[in-house]
Amino acid sequence: MSFFNRNRAPSRPKRSPTPTGGHRKDSGGSEPSSPSPASANLGGAAGGGPKPLYLSRPFADAALVKGNFKTIVMQPKYVDVNEWVAVNIYDFYTNLNEFYGVLTETCTQQTCPTMSAGPTLNYLWIQDRKKVPLSAPTYIDSVMSTIQNLLDDENVFPTKTSLSFDKDTFPATIKQVYIQLLRVFAHLYHAHYPQILHLRAEPHFNSMFAHFLSFGTQYHLFEEREIRGEPNAPVGVGLLWERWKSTGILEGL
Ligand SMILES: [Zn+2]
Repeated sequence: MSFFNRNRAPSRPKRSPTPTGGHRKDSGGSEPSSPSPASANLGGAAGGGPKPLYLSRPFADAALVKGNFKTIVMQPKYVDVNEWVAVNIYDFYTNLNEFYGVLTETCTQQTCPTMSAGPTLNYLWIQDRKKVPLSAPTYIDSVMSTIQNLLDDENVFPTKTSLSFDKDTFPATIKQVYIQLLRVFAHLYHAHYPQILHLRAEPHFNSMFAHFLSFGTQYHLFEEREIRGEPNAPVGVGLLWERWKSTGILEGL
């Protein structure tokens, strides 16, 4: 029996109702931008603005899991590495999608007209080889739909023992999936942390993100620039990554 199959949920997780169609799976680009009203309210993650809440104590260090994630990201004996990466990415996707489902009322075309992730950073979606600006809810729905379609594709995420992972294409596909999920985390931290605090969900959310970063580091699923951003357009949550590295939450990876 496939290890991945045992963990696969029978039905599609809840998603935001925003309609989408025809988006490619490519990761979008990013570009510097003027601060949006939403990001201005939260202050800057870098630069001269007030420190965002997710970088402030005690919220930055709130966690369900104490210590680091080294032991739980390690590949179990006798499990194929692709199988292990697939099942974990599936879980991150499912959990993040559930989380986003709770926040959809606050992430609308009006509140989030761009896929912001820092005071000067908006991600762009790539469609037909062009970078297009999308609102955050449309961008995130495109991400989630694209990933769900990949998960449903037996040629990409095989669940039958007769099929195996394509060793030539799977690593690149899983990196694309990882980077898009990272962007969703980055937007939620940047634009929706007050709502996460309001729900008192910050220990859960921080632990999920720290686990996600630990896993991605262990299996080389992202480059540093993806979490740091560019000097003129830093990723807000890059500073949280730095902080967790210095405090040992991401230690030893
Ligand atoms: Zn939003």
